[in-house]
Amino acid sequence: MTLPLAQQQLLASVNDGLHIGGQWRGSSHGATVDVRNPATGEVIRTVASASVGDGLAALTAADEAFPAWAATPARERAEILRRAFDLLTERADDFALLMTLEMGKPLGEARGEVAYGGEFLRWFSERTAHVTGRYGANPEGSGRMIVTQHPVGPCYLITPWNFPLAMATRKIAPALAAGCTVVIKPATLTPLTTTYFVQLLQEAGLPAGVVNVVTTSVPGPMSEAILADPRLRKLSFTGSTPVGRQLLKQAAQGVLRTSMELGGNAPFIVFDDADLDKAVDGAILAKFRNIGQACTAANRMLVHVDVVEEFTARLTERVENLVMGPGTEPGVAIGPLIDDRAVAKTDELVRDAVTRGASIRTGGAPADGHGYFYPATVLADVQPGSALLTEEIFGPVAAIAPFRDEDEAVALANATEYGLVSYVFTESLARGQRMIERLETGMMGLNVGAVSNAAAPFGGWKMSGLGREGGDEGIHEYLQTKYTLTPNPFA
Ligand code: NAP
Repeated sequence: MTLPLAQQQLLASVNDGLHIGGQWRGSSHGATVDVRNPATGEVIRTVASASVGDGLAALTAADEAFPAWAATPARERAEILRRAFDLLTERADDFALLMTLEMGKPLGEARGEVAYGGEFLRWFSERTAHVTGRYGANPEGSGRMIVTQHPVGPCYLITPWNFPLAMATRKIAPALAAGCTVVIKPATLTPLTTTYFVQLLQEAGLPAGVVNVVTTSVPGPMSEAILADPRLRKLSFTGSTPVGRQLLKQAAQGVLRTSMELGGNAPFIVFDDADLDKAVDGAILAKFRNIGQACTAANRMLVHVDVVEEFTARLTERVENLVMGPGTEPGVAIGPLIDDRAVAKTDELVRDAVTRGASIRTGGAPADGHGYFYPATVLADVQPGSALLTEEIFGPVAAIAPFRDEDEAVALANATEYGLVSYVFTESLARGQRMIERLETGMMGLNVGAVSNAAAPFGGWKMSGLGREGGDEGIHEYLQTKYTLTPNPFA
């Protein structure tokens, strides 16, 4: 299928090389990787695939650029980030289209991600000049204690395919704000947005070597070599818990600083005193945004037994009106899943739940034809033991199960190894407060279906990860503390 001219021109303007030390170049062993449009399954661009040697060359570039970047005045670093924010805002439509082409999300959502991703540039440009230390007498009065903050050094950033821009800016912006240099490895399925963003950073005046990009189809060996190199000082990873756990083991060898944004299994709890209009709006957002492919996606909808039928009926009616199709088409709410494996996995989870007694209210089988489509699905009466209650669904499937009282809701919600986010719908302030204290998650939406914000500390408890991205916390992931003692100058 021939792409419209504007799409061809946009794709052609994305560099097909690796970015190392300010230069664009091919892979040292000539390897390439194809990038496909999940709405059609067709190859839309072929880009260089880094070798282990290329990965290490990128680390060399980051290491060499580090002293000068760390010594660059905070204001100058802030201004580059701010210019990047302005350029991204000007080119929001191009970035949104590129993301839709390589990842599949509807254009409106892609625009939302550009705005969200851009906020990390603006937020951390504003934080850059505010990194502070402290000075004071020790309790004995015999000395002066000075506490200073320093960039940790060259960082390795690994990002997933589901939010190709925001996951990159959420790491790159605080790293640069803190004075760190980076090597970034985007997901092989969606490298174009990151590459295009790094072209923009160059235009914003970022010096050579500060950000290096190495897309690769051999992430394991390349990452292992980078993590084993003593010049690396930090790993920041967003992706699945199994891969994160493996990387943590490798990072342990070098006792690296790590930030791990891992998987989720969000409970979405609707109490009998909830405003059901708000709850259904929240459910559409928390479940079907990004075609259900979000770590923050509502994985289990736990609904009080007295309102479960009404909630399910209202949600089903809304879901039946969600239009499925290529994300580039107007009005589409459900784009394709990322690949055929994602379609097969989603369907397997649905079949398992149905075999165990769930009923399909809408959707429930893969779509025919081109691309990787699975329709928005509502499953009622999901039974304990169903795999989709313990595994991340990562598809547009709302799994609804009833509960009887608050204690049971809390017990069900916390019965998971994950602890990223929870959603609670209740009109009772006291109950909302109790939920804040009882739910084991790093984030919570109280009567809202989306929580992400550049000014907030994003991150999970339990196996959902370590560390925080965004907020005031985000920059500290890239800073290390030094305490110095000097004698009392008056003694
Ligand atoms: P994934 O398979 O873990 O991949 C994530 C990244 O890790 C990709 O860049 C991938 O490269 C790379 N990778 C895979 N194996 C590796 C290895 N052995 N060594 C080094 N890197 C390796 O996860 P995904 O399927 O892309 O993303 C979905 C997962 O991310 C879900 O679990 C979701 O919950 C999680 N997620 C979490 C957050 C959060 O903030 N907590 C946000 C978004 C997504 P390739 O692309 O080449 O495989």
